[in-house]
Amino acid sequence: MSDFAGLVAAVTGGASGIGLATANLLTSRGATVAALDLDPGGLPDGITGFAVDVSDDAQVKSAVDGVAERFGRLDVVVNNAGIGAVGDVAANDDDEWLRVLNVNVVGMARVARHALPYLRHSPAAAVVNTCSIAAWAGLPQRALYSASKGAVYALTLAMAADHVREGIRVNCVAPGTADTPWVGRLLDQAADPAAERLALNARQPTGRLVSADEVANAIAYLASPLSGATVGTVLAVDGGMHGLRLRPP
Ligand code: NAD
Repeated sequence: MSDFAGLVAAVTGGASGIGLATANLLTSRGATVAALDLDPGGLPDGITGFAVDVSDDAQVKSAVDGVAERFGRLDVVVNNAGIGAVGDVAANDDDEWLRVLNVNVVGMARVARHALPYLRHSPAAAVVNTCSIAAWAGLPQRALYSASKGAVYALTLAMAADHVREGIRVNCVAPGTADTPWVGRLLDQAADPAAERLALNARQPTGRLVSADEVANAIAYLASPLSGATVGTVLAVDGGMHGLRLRPP
């Protein structure tokens, strides 16, 4: 497929996990892809890295403008950079709440704000935000992270409403537990990571984790004209966790 031929995409968190899988997929389908990441080292050939912290407004503006200047346009934004936080509502102090929200929520708004002037010139403008089933699942010991992803879902709907008449479609994906370096780092903290991985697999409806490529496929669908009538939607990529109304493990 070359449905992204001639289009330019910016993928935040594009150097690892879901973001990297998305950058690779969009590239293979003809897009010119910029990976905006804290650490854009080691990207495959054909993907251009921009070192940027999405919690810093000046860095985001410079990177987004830099993508548009270098490639002449910006059509697709994949707002994917995110970080985790563990614990109940009392586990993190104000500084930590604001640090995580600044990356997971304000970071997405910030990237969108600086991208909008370019997206308005695109005939195929799309924004895809990476949400999570944590937005509505009532995950234990994930108060801050869940709140941040709930805000991503609400932001997606609000942006979709505000910009649909400008020809900019906004949607989000909600991965379940996806097999990325993020989850690898969590498993490594277990006494027996291999056993913990098996147990985590067993708790999924499908008996296995979601792959980064499966999330990337959903993102690419929502970013492409193939989903041209899809606006303000959340697409769960969670092995059935949401559709079957199950509680995440
Ligand atoms: P990952 O840790 O493998 O990759 C995240 C990338 O984001 C890294 O390259 C990192 O450098 C970058 N990043 C982090 N903070 C950044 C910042 N401030 N500015 C710029 N880049 C930054 O994680 P992943 O599992 O691929 O997660 C990607 C997204 O998917 C996140 O938004 C996460 O919340 C969401 N998600 C992941 C899962 C999962 O199970 N892996 C489930 C649901 C949602």
